[in-house]
Amino acid sequence: MAREAGYDPSMAPLPANVLVIGNDLAISWSDGTETYLPLQALRRLCPCAGCAGERDLFGRLAKPPQKPYTGVSFEVAATSPVGGYALQLFWKDGHSDGLYPWKVLKEWGEKLPELPPLEVKTLLPAL
Ligand SMILES: [Zn+2]
Repeated sequence: MAREAGYDPSMAPLPANVLVIGNDLAISWSDGTETYLPLQALRRLCPCAGCAGERDLFGRLAKPPQKPYTGVSFEVAATSPVGGYALQLFWKDGHSDGLYPWKVLKEWGEKLPELPPLEVKTLLPAL
């Protein structure tokens, strides 16, 4: 594939295909590489203000308490590309506020941020 003039190698490649396979989100990229991300980690890394918190004018992070997850919190009902720069995940418990930039997904595929063990008290039994 010919590279266009002005191609910036630091830019994340474009996603070619997105699939949920078992407990993973699988992304194949335009450069031929593939990324597999565990859905549970993706949900826990949800970048929306409700999950990740918001900084106020003084830079203080206001982080709401984690709402309990349910049995379907780590299952994806649908995915949708947003504006060419991010992926929106629709979780089966109804949460869909998080927009995951492709660049970040690509980085997480190489090195997933460390997550503390899932606390039992935040995990409700499946209904
Ligand atoms: Zn969220």
